Amino acid sequence: MDKKPTLILAACCGPCATVAIEQLSSRYNIIIAFWGNNLESLEEYNKRLEALKIVNEKLNNNAPMRVEDYKQIDFNNLDISKENEKTKFVIDNFQRSTLNFETDPEGSHRCRLCYFLRLQNAVKIADKIFKENSKYEYICFATTLSTSPHKDSAMIDIIGGLAQDTSPHNTFNGYPRTYVSYLPTNFKGNGGFNKSVVMSKKLCIYRQTFCGCKYSNKN
Ligand code: SF4
Repeated sequence: MDKKPTLILAACCGPCATVAIEQLSSRYNIIIAFWGNNLESLEEYNKRLEALKIVNEKLNNNAPMRVEDYKQIDFNNLDISKENEKTKFVIDNFQRSTLNFETDPEGSHRCRLCYFLRLQNAVKIADKIFKENSKYEYICFATTLSTSPHKDSAMIDIIGGLAQDTSPHNTFNGYPRTYVSYLPTNFKGNGGFNKSVVMSKKLCIYRQTFCGCKYSNKN
């Protein structure tokens, strides 16, 4: 029986996932999680999802993935009188969270919110797995974001810790515990980013030229 712990890998795109899976798969059973509501269009979402599916098939034994549908709020037709819609509007939504930060540069507060939303989704998946199946002693989560040379791995790790704290499984009678545990990473280290480029070219997968949201697309 495979005794490796389970790790939810919050993946932003196929290329960044290649080297992350290469570095983690001997130690963890990896479940790729894709949350693309930060992306500028459904077309971009589909391209990245397609690339991730190939990476999952070729490098991760085609393990079941957890994919969040692409959802965008139509602000012009939003009925904020519905309480649950209002709650989701505030907590979960990239468009809403990043309002007023549109012109900030990459790496700014807007990006920190974006990292948090993606990592929070990984925590929600871990929580759901716990609920569905009590065999787990703990579940880890990590993110492919640290593959990018444009992203500050130390900042990502701080935000990973904040996301970890949102899990209801991580407190018991007021005391902290780590059933859902963030794994700090720096996949770009030791030539990791260059390796991801080589691996994704070999797999012939889509390699984007911008971070993902409409604010980062200068074309
Ligand atoms: S630039 Fe990238 S990290 Fe920053 S908000 Fe846009 S998609 Fe998210």
